[in-house]
Amino acid sequence: MQIQARRYDNLEPVELTIAGEQIERISPLGAAGERLDLPYVSPPFFDHQINGYDGVWFSDEELTAEAAIATGAAHYQFGVTRLFPTLITNSFAALSQGFAALRSACEQDAATDRMFPGFHLEGPYLSGEDGPRGAHPKDQIRPADWEEFQRLQEAAGGRILLVTIAPEVEGAIDFIERAVESSLVVSIGHTAASPEQIRAAVDAGARMSTHLGNGAHGTLRRHPNYIWEQLGDARLAAGVISDGHHLPPSVLRTIVAAKGVENTLITCDASGLAGRPPGRYEFESVEVEVLERGPIVIAGQSQILAGSGVQTDVCVAFILRVTDVSLAQAIDMAGRYPARLFELDEIRLRRGSAADLMVFRYPERGGDLTIEQTIAAGQVRYDGR
Ligand SMILES: [Zn+2]
Repeated sequence: MQIQARRYDNLEPVELTIAGEQIERISPLGAAGERLDLPYVSPPFFDHQINGYDGVWFSDEELTAEAAIATGAAHYQFGVTRLFPTLITNSFAALSQGFAALRSACEQDAATDRMFPGFHLEGPYLSGEDGPRGAHPKDQIRPADWEEFQRLQEAAGGRILLVTIAPEVEGAIDFIERAVESSLVVSIGHTAASPEQIRAAVDAGARMSTHLGNGAHGTLRRHPNYIWEQLGDARLAAGVISDGHHLPPSVLRTIVAAKGVENTLITCDASGLAGRPPGRYEFESVEVEVLERGPIVIAGQSQILAGSGVQTDVCVAFILRVTDVSLAQAIDMAGRYPARLFELDEIRLRRGSAADLMVFRYPERGGDLTIEQTIAAGQVRYDGR
């Protein structure tokens, strides 16, 4: 298979030859700035925080392997070939059931196994305070419990790679140390921790912040506070939800400037209702509303967001719109850099690299990314041309 397109990194028009699951050859078709009629080609997206799609929640107690497979595959249309299905705060039984279904999906289907290179457990060891708790159900928030986590990891077949935890929760620091010893990536989130507690978590090995700037109080002491503390610690990478609703442009610019592009990881944190039309929906006895203009909130108010209604491609386009990062940097913030942090295969446009690619259009003056083709392991998984 051959693809003619402009490289996303140096804008050179090239012809890529794919053989089997790999890029076999990349031949020049002219100089950078030529063949402006061609679409771009880049490595595809990897999103570390996806809750579901089109009415399917990975956190659903009744999640089946079939639904997980279909929900994973639905992401090719957005240029995503890898994502961490994310389970949020819930009972042990529900979490264990969910992880077992995800595991079974990966065991049954090789493409899903590639799509889900790890699972993300966001909770239940989080702050119970209103604000930091976000949309996580209060009655299931609990102290950190390594034994319980071990049983969840067992249900998941060892596939949980990322855990979001609040450092101030009882037992959290000990939990973080054990998690890091087990090669998990620990992320700080949904927290009301003091600066000392944040530092203790980072000293124990926490390496990132989950959706920095969200899952926080509406009003905070000017300083010190847990946002500054995480922003100012160079040892922490930051996940950002750049969907245009979760963070204002100035905050996104500040996080990118403080962390650098390589340590700012774009996520859409898509809700299980992403892709559904506006209206009210109930999930696990929480009423959630998809609003006309896109965001998804706890029903009856507009301040508490309950995940995003858009996908990674839209979040990358928004970063491009409001910060001065380049096209290549923005794409890598949702692909290579998170893969590097999680020690997964860093896909590059070069000979011998995995043939995981996306072909897309992006107007010279900015605007939306339009995904034309998504290729995973040398197979065309989405073709929207
Ligand atoms: Zn969250």
